[in-house]
Amino acid sequence: MMRFSYQKPDDVSQAANLLATDPTAQVIAGGTNIVDLMKYDVTRPGTIIDITGLDLKDIAIDSDGKLVLGALATNADTAYHDAVTEGWPLLSSAILAGASAQLRNAATDGGNLLQRTRCYYFYDPSTPCNKRRPGSGCGALDGVNRIHAILGESEHCIAVHPSDMCVALAALDAVVTVQGPSGVRDIAFEDFHRLPGDKPEADNTLQRGEIVTKITVPPGDFGNHHTYLKLRDRWSYAFALVSVAAAIRLDGDTLSEIRVALGGVAHKPWRRKDVEARFTGRPANRATFEAFARALTEGATGHGQNDFKVELAPRAIVRALEQAAAGTPQSQTHKVIV
Ligand code: SF4
Repeated sequence: MMRFSYQKPDDVSQAANLLATDPTAQVIAGGTNIVDLMKYDVTRPGTIIDITGLDLKDIAIDSDGKLVLGALATNADTAYHDAVTEGWPLLSSAILAGASAQLRNAATDGGNLLQRTRCYYFYDPSTPCNKRRPGSGCGALDGVNRIHAILGESEHCIAVHPSDMCVALAALDAVVTVQGPSGVRDIAFEDFHRLPGDKPEADNTLQRGEIVTKITVPPGDFGNHHTYLKLRDRWSYAFALVSVAAAIRLDGDTLSEIRVALGGVAHKPWRRKDVEARFTGRPANRATFEAFARALTEGATGHGQNDFKVELAPRAIVRALEQAAAGTPQSQTHKVIV
């Protein structure tokens, strides 16, 4: 039996203050990850702060044409929203590639950003894990690591971030708005999640007491020149071994813009704007895409069971970019409710 107290704040300020003043408190929204973590005895919150009553569920387009997702909008409502399917289809496709219909109906957009890794050792309190218990070691380094990182990892942790939605948000230059006891601030998506370094227990750059309130996505009209390609062990309800969110703009046969973010390979969505800048202006052909893929995955290292990802990732990038260039986005239509 796990005992905890329960709070249901009326507004974001109250929620943030509760979170800031109680070090044992944790937030629940859709509950699709934290309930698992409690069942597995990975986490034991002294207080649960239920934020489902907060006014953060809207999906809208603001006066600048940006998509604004309330943190409590569900993944399903977001993926199937007309504004998203028409204006940000890459985001819709990525969300539909994740989890199951039941989970997407419950999971929130803010919670998607904050979900924890699915590293097997993280979920097994009988094994060492620096993320769950700092200083205890990393069971995955010399263990079962088929799903683990090949880029940006450290000697302390080789876990990957499990989200599909976040890979698209990284490619689309989203901004995360958070509210805490010190006020409101915006965090560029590339700065929201972090690499493990010597502090793998921290998945992101949130300060204590801060709550995600909305996600803003700039206009993302790439025509049909985008795709979300997800490679996994099962066709459905499986986390990515490698995923690619690709979006390009073409000037004739020339790349006037190229954006690629990777999932399943690092502790955060993996994107290199310096590499993208080097390839802008190059011809949109296979030779360019292969060179881009090599540059984006430069330094990739396997840890035994995940060695195959070092080869799989660049191949996936090339395939995604060829689909994007051809205007044939990876279809997720089999998951669309009609
Ligand atoms: Fe823990 Fe990270 Fe090692 Fe997995 S990879 S066991 S999450 S420290």
